[in-house]
Amino acid sequence: MVGADREREALARAAALVAGARRGVAFTGAGVSAESGIQTFRGKDGLWRQHDPYRTSSIEAFLQDPSYYWRISAERWPAYAASRPNPGHLALAALEEEGHLAAVVTQNTDGLHRQAGTKRLVELHGNGRRVRCLDCGAAEPREEVQRRLERELPPRCRACGGRHLKPAVVFFGESLPAAAMSEAFQLARECDLMLVVGSSLQVYPAAHVPGTAVERGVPLVVVNDEPTPMDVAAEVVVRGRSGELLPELLRLVRSSRPERH
Ligand SMILES: [Zn+2]
Repeated sequence: MVGADREREALARAAALVAGARRGVAFTGAGVSAESGIQTFRGKDGLWRQHDPYRTSSIEAFLQDPSYYWRISAERWPAYAASRPNPGHLALAALEEEGHLAAVVTQNTDGLHRQAGTKRLVELHGNGRRVRCLDCGAAEPREEVQRRLERELPPRCRACGGRHLKPAVVFFGESLPAAAMSEAFQLARECDLMLVVGSSLQVYPAAHVPGTAVERGVPLVVVNDEPTPMDVAAEVVVRGRSGELLPELLRLVRSSRPERH
């Protein structure tokens, strides 16, 4: 009971901070997507427990043997493509719509924030629903490639015939997209609240984004089901699943809002 009371109080304090924010930034990670059925990389059932992270997710290995990547990707795609935003994604979109959040900065590559209605979305690690040819630069939806994978491994670029079609996500050994990084840091320098959701804050340089806001003395709220290295700097830490906690947070924000005429 004491634990439950403490969690309720933490959520109420988090809601008060969010309600007062006018240009907050939400920084999200795999925990938000997991509740939509997206398989995580690092979790106990994560991809990297089943497959060698170097072979599946490094640019060097990919260039040597793209078929290895595509064989695994072909199996995983149907579940990925069928995933839908969960109540956590929807609550963040509502907080933007209602003027508390300026943007969502995400480490996720599934595009679910966009599907949920988030308007300003910064994707630090790219987007897995698109594929780009490393030889000629042509782009096409990942879904189109799926149809060719049964008879063509690795899939070939339809524009140039090249064998280096790659999902538009950041692999190990690749830089993060410069425009997305610069936009994320700009947001962190201007925000009046940093709301970390579903990220263990262990992946750099992405994790420097919330750090930048914290260094400015901006209040930090962490919603995550496990401890993060930045909990010590947080005004409030709420422990649990974002798909359950964020809708409740949204409800509290709405009920605390002064009436507008
Ligand atoms: Zn090409």
